[in-house]
This record gives sequence, C-alpha cells and structure tokens, in this order.
Amino acid sequence: MIVKSLSETLSGMWSLLVGMKVTAVNFKSPQITVHYPRQVTNLDGYRGHIELVPSDEDPTKSKCIACSNCVRICPGACISLKASKPKKKAAEEKKAAPGTETETQPEGKKEAPPKKAKPELQSFVLDYNYCCLCGLCVESCPSGALRYSSDVYVAGFTRQEFVYDLLSRLQYQAQKKEQ
Ligand code: SF4
Ligand code: SF4
Repeated sequence: MIVKSLSETLSGMWSLLVGMKVTAVNFKSPQITVHYPRQVTNLDGYRGHIELVPSDEDPTKSKCIACSNCVRICPGACISLKASKPKKKAAEEKKAAPGTETETQPEGKKEAPPKKAKPELQSFVLDYNYCCLCGLCVESCPSGALRYSSDVYVAGFTRQEFVYDLLSRLQYQAQKKEQ
C-alpha cells in the first residue's frame, strides 16, 4: 500500500517537472499568436474579393484598359464597367492643324502607325453577392489590372453592401496612402 502511494507521488512529481520544463522552454520563445482582430497576419494565399491594381504612373488610376474580357468571362455576371471613348492623340491633332510643322521620315522608312489611345475607365463595379471567387477574371485580364484583395472583414446586413465600386475604392486607398 505504502509502495503504491509512493510510486503515485513520484509519478505525479515527475509529470509536474515535465510540464514545468515545457513552460520554461516556451517562456523565452517569441510570441506567435496575434492580437486578432487588431492585427491580421498570415494572409498569404488568402483569396478575398477582386480589386483593381493601380497603374505605375498614377496610383489613383487603374491598369485597366477596359477590354471587357473580365465582364464576358465572369460566370456570375458580377462585373460591370463604364469607359469613356479614347481621346484623339495630341500628335494627331497637331498634324491635322494647318500651318504646323510635321516630322519627316527618312526615305524608304515607313511612318509608324499612330498608337491607339486607351479608353479611360469611368466606373468598375463588382457585385460580390454573385461572385464564386473562381478567378477567371484575374486570369483573363491582359493588363494585370485585377488581383485578389486581402479584405477579411466582409460582413453586412443588406445585399447592397456587397456591391463594390472598385474604382472609387482604389482612389480612396491611394488618397489614404498619401496622407
Ligand atoms: S472571381 Fe469569378 S465569379 Fe468572381 S468576379 Fe471574377 S470571374 Fe466573376
Ligand atoms: S480584363 Fe482587365 S483590362 Fe480588361 S476590362 Fe477587365 S480589368 Fe480591365
């Protein structure tokens, strides 16, 4: 009886020592937990709703060339966009104006065709209610103008709250960065 009770006591003390060793080892290790929701990390590979990628020259403008590939390929018909017609190139206007100098080409060299002006994006709306995050729009975009956002706080009370004006969002984010 005494032997059994001594054995149980020793076993309990051993278990306590093992537990204390684990605590001591981890006490000095760096903290790996984060203060969610104030801090959000480890979003590598997270696929949030799509967003527009800012252009390199002007962060308030998008890389979108309004080709409508994404609109056509989207299985949920979630994307709608508006774009203005391309403005006439300044060079073309200059050429058309009477009495202005024109650039001469060396003999035998053909004049390069004028570059097509890209249409300017006026609005780009995503109805996230119908998006299945298939990624077809991102893959089909020829100018790399779409990517997945890291927006993890997606909650609302009405469907309208999930209809995103992505161009305004891009402009707001650019202004926020400037401040
Ligand atoms: S991820 Fe798929 S469903 Fe969502 S907007 Fe893009 S193409 Fe449409
Ligand atoms: S596919 Fe890309 S470039 Fe074309 S309209 Fe969509 S976002 Fe713009």
